[in-house]
Order: sequence, then C-alpha cells, then structure tokens
Amino acid sequence: MENHTGSEAQPYWKCKGCGYTLKLSAPPDICPSCREKCEFADVTCYTPECGFKGIDHRLAGQQEDIRKQ
Ligand SMILES: [Zn+2]
Repeated sequence: MENHTGSEAQPYWKCKGCGYTLKLSAPPDICPSCREKCEFADVTCYTPECGFKGIDHRLAGQQEDIRKQ
C-alpha cells in the first residue's frame, strides 16, 4: 500500500533554450546544460498512462507554444 503524499514525486523540467530535461522539486535558476538563466517548462506527465511518472512527451514536444515578444 502506498500513501500518496507527493513528497516523493518530483516533477520534470525542460529547458526552453536547449531542451535539457531534469528531475527536480523546483526548476533551477541556471540551466546545467546552457549554464544560463533559462525558462523551464513543467513536462511532468500527470496522466495515468505513464503512472504519473516520467515526462509527458506531448508537453515536451511543444516548446514553441509560447510567443516571444
Ligand atoms: Zn538549457
């Protein structure tokens, strides 16, 4: 029996600059790959299809969804 406390499940973040994904409780200030201040998108899968774990590839693939001004 598992208790769903949520403390164990960490979200996945994807750098909008280089596409680097990492698993952390919060997105980092500096992308480990770019070594720059990047924007990170939450690409965690929240559907039962992947057991609420892993990366949602539909989200991860959509990186040009936000318009830049
Ligand atoms: Zn990056």
